[in-house]
Amino acid sequence: MGIRLQISRSLRERIIAEATASLDEICGLLLGEGATVSDAVACANVHPTPATHFELDPTVLFHALRTARAGGPAVIGHYHSHPTGSTMPSTTDAAAAAADGAFWIIAADGGVAAWRAVRDGTVHGRFDPVALAIAR
Ligand SMILES: [Zn+2]
Repeated sequence: MGIRLQISRSLRERIIAEATASLDEICGLLLGEGATVSDAVACANVHPTPATHFELDPTVLFHALRTARAGGPAVIGHYHSHPTGSTMPSTTDAAAAAADGAFWIIAADGGVAAWRAVRDGTVHGRFDPVALAIAR
């Protein structure tokens, strides 16, 4: 039941590799259509304490949104990592998340999990788990 987020094996592995290589939280945008990720764009983490928080580079986000408006792929969510945690959203994530239906992929401990930011979510009142459908 529910929405499955489609992502290719290579994109999933790229996100995991990026997370594994960094002591700080890594982050980036998920581009695509509906519930299908067609690309993942790495962003600088510009948060002042990047070991435990993330903030997407706003210039990359702005460029992606402008490209989407011009007919490019939509920004359907983003990804980040928890270098010493789990793939569960943190309370910090919940506090920062709008209930906008965006997909969140969280990388930790050599894996990833997907979530959707919704009103009255089952995790911290803000996130519902989303199954990942790995393609190709
Ligand atoms: Zn987080």
